[in-house]
Amino acid sequence: MEKLKTAAWFLITAGVIVLIMYFETMWPYASVMILAGAALHTAVSLKTKKSLPLLCRAGYHRYKIAGYDEEIRSMRIYECTRCGKKHKAFLGGGGG
Ligand SMILES: [Zn+2]
Repeated sequence: MEKLKTAAWFLITAGVIVLIMYFETMWPYASVMILAGAALHTAVSLKTKKSLPLLCRAGYHRYKIAGYDEEIRSMRIYECTRCGKKHKAFLGGGGG
């Protein structure tokens, strides 16, 4: 699966480079490369994270405050109520 992800990123990166360098003549091919890479990456992500809720898979976690960092007191630890993913952020630093 990791190889597929790398291939997807390669497609996207190559597509972007081609798009920038040869926009006039190559943009239809570059667009296809980027779209194909994005589609492949999404497919791989969905397959590897199948157990996660849909919103979490898309990166929209619902964080609640789970505690404070032991070393840095002004750092809060947030935990996603859906998938349990942890996230640290400074107080008043925007959270989420
Ligand atoms: Zn989550």
